[in-house]
Amino acid sequence: MKTVASELAYFLRGRARQNLKLLLLYGLFLLLMTLSYATIFRFLMLHLEGREYSFIAGVYWAITVMTTLGFGDITFHTDLGYIFAAVVTVSGVIFLLIILPFGLISLFLAPWIEQRLRYGSTFSLPKKTAGHVIVFGLNPITREFIKNLIRREIPFVAVTEDYHEQLNMEEEGNIRVACGSVTDKALLSKVRVESALYVFANLSDTKNISLCLTVRSLCQTPIAATVGDAERLELMRLSGADKVVPLSRIIGRYLGIRATTQGASAHIIDSFGLLKIAEIPVYCTPFSGMTLEQAAIRQKTGLAVIGIWERGVFTVPAKDTPLNPKALIVLVGTQKQLTQMEQMIGEQAENDLVFILGHGKIGCAAANFLDHAGVPYLLFDQAENQYCTRHVAVLGDATNRELLRKSGIDKARGLIVTTNDDATNVFLTLSSRHANPYIRIVARANSEESVQQLYAAGADFVVSNSSVGANILTNILEAKESIFLTEGLKIFRRPVPIQLQGRSIEDSKIRPLTGCSVVALEQDGANPLPSPAPDVILTNEMRLVMIGNVDHEENFNSRFPPKGA
Ligand code: AMP
Ligand code: ZN
Repeated sequence: MKTVASELAYFLRGRARQNLKLLLLYGLFLLLMTLSYATIFRFLMLHLEGREYSFIAGVYWAITVMTTLGFGDITFHTDLGYIFAAVVTVSGVIFLLIILPFGLISLFLAPWIEQRLRYGSTFSLPKKTAGHVIVFGLNPITREFIKNLIRREIPFVAVTEDYHEQLNMEEEGNIRVACGSVTDKALLSKVRVESALYVFANLSDTKNISLCLTVRSLCQTPIAATVGDAERLELMRLSGADKVVPLSRIIGRYLGIRATTQGASAHIIDSFGLLKIAEIPVYCTPFSGMTLEQAAIRQKTGLAVIGIWERGVFTVPAKDTPLNPKALIVLVGTQKQLTQMEQMIGEQAENDLVFILGHGKIGCAAANFLDHAGVPYLLFDQAENQYCTRHVAVLGDATNRELLRKSGIDKARGLIVTTNDDATNVFLTLSSRHANPYIRIVARANSEESVQQLYAAGADFVVSNSSVGANILTNILEAKESIFLTEGLKIFRRPVPIQLQGRSIEDSKIRPLTGCSVVALEQDGANPLPSPAPDVILTNEMRLVMIGNVDHEENFNSRFPPKGA
């Protein structure tokens, strides 16, 4: 009874209520039509054919003709009568048999079924489910994150408030998506939040906060939440999040780092304790045009070069790999070694002028970074940023070539393209490259598909929101035991396996056996050792820091299973 009442209540709320009014009006229109036909029927019968029928008979005739039942017990025998009967039949077909059912289906049945699916039929995970990850919010970042979870075979369930997203995701990837309000305790219980390994929240800041509060009212499962506005970081923590990821600030910093030669120590992208992983554009260094061997970075600084990014592709360099000015080198080493590198770069520092196109959350974060690094810049946006009081942007559409030309784009050294629309970003990259062939263009890709388009349009570096976001979330889950560099490729650390203790790196045959390369050794109570020589002896105080893809890591795990596995 309660269910019937709640279903009926659906029709008395919001849009359904308005639709119900429309239906009543339409019903009135059909009633008037039937009564008019009954009256005309009686008139024609009496004056054309001399037969008299009651009003009820008239209504009966109109209904049987309009619904095309046509029993044939009352019929006209004159031409005008035939014409009238034909008009009644056709109008009945149109208004009663076509428009009415169509209206009923589209205004009532379809929205009702949709609403039932959206809020009524979310599945329950079995009671014993545990150790799974719950991802709140479906967007490019969580989609990439989910791909990482699938690759790592970590069980998960996604939760969205958007029923269409649920359908798309389920159809695309054959994955389980629950749908409903993310602050609904019953829904949280259905996805077994109490026994989950981790909750990831990537909704709007306000929704993330309410989600954290709701989860905390139920259990202590760890929560990692993204925050768009870095000022809300503390609030998010107070509401119960264990890890808060200020994504816009991180992405803004990445863009800023790559658009300027200054502030090189901030090129650090991640760390394992004392061991830092940094990316430095080759043009910032004195090594541009040399081969890796000629650059002798390890000999000069002690830093290990573990990879090279060029136009979005990561490669592990060989001795004779040329260092293209447009590439980024990925380095592993200590802060001291990076500072040494920075001093070498410092001599090269030029007077940058950077244009930032888009003063939203990310553009604002990039401007903050440049403020910090002391690099002059000009900001452009088509609208005021209501949340920022620190910066003044030139107002105007950045796709207007005159605006950028008059502002002196031909003299700028760096360009950060960071609007929220990828097609605009591609256009801006292309037209700015045309206006200034030597400018360093760093572009933001809001979706993974645009990365290659932005490179093709002339960007030197592309920072993808979704892969940066997904990698950060994955790193949180792996408790910092691994750092994703790119699709499948990661840096990870493991204690030295017992069977390798006392052997040299060369002897251990880690690389030929597993495919993993040792890029550094962490040592208890001593400085980490980047790029260790092959004859270094492995001890039980050491941890191996290795680079490899998911298969390599798997090989390592099965060759050298962790203690207790
Ligand atoms: P966010 O996603 O928060 O970094 O915001 C992106 C910013 O890009 C917003 O402030 C938009 O106003 C801005 N934007 C989008 N299209 C254009 C354009 N054609 N010219 C200038 N700014 C733009
Ligand atoms: Zn700002």
